[in-house]
Amino acid sequence: MTKPTVGFYDLTGCNGCLLSFVFNEDEILHIAKHVDIKTFRFIKEKKDDKQYDVVFVEGLVASNEDIESIKSIREKTKILVALGACACTGCIPAYRNFIEPSKYVYLTYDKIKEINDVQPTPISMHVQVDYSIPGCPADKKQILEFIKELVLGKKPHDYDRPVCFECKLNENRCLLDDNKMCLGPITRGGCNAICTNGKFECWGCRGPMPDANLPLISKLLEQKGFSKDAIKQRLRTFAALQMEKLPVMKPIVIKKKAVKKVKKPKKKLAKAKKKVAKKVLKPKKKIATKMAKKVVKKKIVKKKAAIKKTAKKMIKKTAKKTVTKKKTKNNSNKKQKSLFGKLFKRLGK
Ligand code: SF4
Ligand code: SF4
Ligand code: SF4
Repeated sequence: MTKPTVGFYDLTGCNGCLLSFVFNEDEILHIAKHVDIKTFRFIKEKKDDKQYDVVFVEGLVASNEDIESIKSIREKTKILVALGACACTGCIPAYRNFIEPSKYVYLTYDKIKEINDVQPTPISMHVQVDYSIPGCPADKKQILEFIKELVLGKKPHDYDRPVCFECKLNENRCLLDDNKMCLGPITRGGCNAICTNGKFECWGCRGPMPDANLPLISKLLEQKGFSKDAIKQRLRTFAALQMEKLPVMKPIVIKKKAVKKVKKPKKKLAKAKKKVAKKVLKPKKKIATKMAKKVVKKKIVKKKAAIKKTAKKMIKKTAKKTVTKKKTKNNSNKKQKSLFGKLFKRLGK
């Protein structure tokens, strides 16, 4: 009986999922008796990559080289298996789709810019995927089960219950009751609720259930006191591109060469600044003229008041003078009258 030929490949990822398979150290030799592992760079130095029955692919598509690799792998195999969260949902690297390039581009090394990267996406967005083994990393036992079913000629099956199911079987206290942000109700199970067993909330690394009710979990978590932003971030962490069914989760559309695009807005910014400056300066001029007018008015009013004052003073002075003149006239008249009186009196004598 000919053994099925198997290959393990990796695109952009951390190799955690490939290691997960290697951690089945007790069973690997047994597996090797039943399948022909042709390519696995942790085990074999040389690639023997003409044709395969099954290929497991770890990592996501994040460069033009990845696109070429996944297309060539697809042509070589009858069955393609997405291994781990990166390959299945895009995992944490796909979060980049939701961040403005200006916020991360300064973190990239100059050499990395030569890689010719593309927006990170799961492999199913580039080629047809036959099966998925989710998780970050993919569960080592699930990989083993998958290979056993394959050898036995059975159709490998997806785990179709949420994490909560296994969590309740393990008699864990629900973390939602302790106001922790657990995504167990919407996350595909099969990991034996490994996180909630240790009292850590489920972050959804195995991706959402096909019938995940995102608006409802968001509402529930909001009622627990979590902000919309915090919920959105948690939902995006491991399966951002799958969660985009929710209107608020739409990714940012970034056209080719995001790095250059970041530089271009500088010119636009300068233009915009000029426009804003014009708009801002114009009213300033208006304000300045208004202010000047007000000042002039005030000055005029003050001057008028001063003129009035001086005029009043002048009038008073002249009035006084005339009064004193009259008085002096009267006095002189009186004096004259008294003199004439004396003369007449003498003449009369
Ligand atoms: S799914 Fe997790 S463990 Fe696997 S390659 Fe991606 S980051 Fe690494
Ligand atoms: S702790 Fe999380 S996984 Fe467990 S029952 Fe509660 S919500 Fe579900
Ligand atoms: S409990 Fe949630 S986060 Fe933890 S391994 Fe399972 S699916 Fe992933």
